[in-house]
Amino acid sequence: MLRFDLISIFPEYLSPLKLSLLGKAQNKGLLQINIHDLRDQTTDLHQSVDDTPYGGGAGMVMSPVVWGDAIDEITSNGQVIDLIILTPAGKKFNQQMAVKFSKCDQIIFACGRYEGIDARVGDYYRSQKNFRVHEVSIGDYVLGGGEVAAMVIIEATARLLPGVIGNPDSLREESHSISGQDDQQLVEYPNYTKPAQWRGLEVPQVLLSGNHGEIAKWRRSEAERRTRNLEQE
Ligand code: SAM
Repeated sequence: MLRFDLISIFPEYLSPLKLSLLGKAQNKGLLQINIHDLRDQTTDLHQSVDDTPYGGGAGMVMSPVVWGDAIDEITSNGQVIDLIILTPAGKKFNQQMAVKFSKCDQIIFACGRYEGIDARVGDYYRSQKNFRVHEVSIGDYVLGGGEVAAMVIIEATARLLPGVIGNPDSLREESHSISGQDDQQLVEYPNYTKPAQWRGLEVPQVLLSGNHGEIAKWRRSEAERRTRNLEQE
């Protein structure tokens, strides 16, 4: 069973992880999500987790000491652990990474705040043989903290686990999972439901034809058209 551990100074920020598909999946024992408060590792009165940056500059940097203690505390012996350090300077998250993460045993998310986490945390765990370290960004913008980014990655990853989605066929023809020419990933074709007419707009006739071959052809060409349009934007 895939186990997600999230470390944050705002554990309550992560409460949506109990809801919807993820909540049900945890109740069914399909995955485990544990949330840890980084401040539990502090020893001073003010529960400090940050300090001024070496070299000067604005803002505060999160201490490697508390991060190291927090990660060590939830490290199970023996198995390989994937440590995801959320950072806007990381590799951009995509569906292929979600597929890769869905095959892991335990993933620890380090949710940064302030100017981020002391760079030695990643360096240290990269040197540990039971750790794989991934510095991951969810997009080219800067958030206030890594909590939302961790939730994005968990939601995309967890729905790929067996049993989490009611109908696994839904995963087959999704955006970023449909292979086009030269292994390029396509986005999904447009979807419609009843009524067939709405505010003067009609559902494409082919979808009402019952001809599955023609429907598949139309969907494929729409997926290609939408993907091309995105590339041109
Ligand atoms: N000083 C950092 C920089 O310029 O790269 C930005 C720090 S940001 C204000 C604080 C924290 O938010 C980061 O440590 C990271 O955990 C999280 N964060 C912000 N933007 C993110 C993004 N695009 N993807 C993933 N995490 C992000």
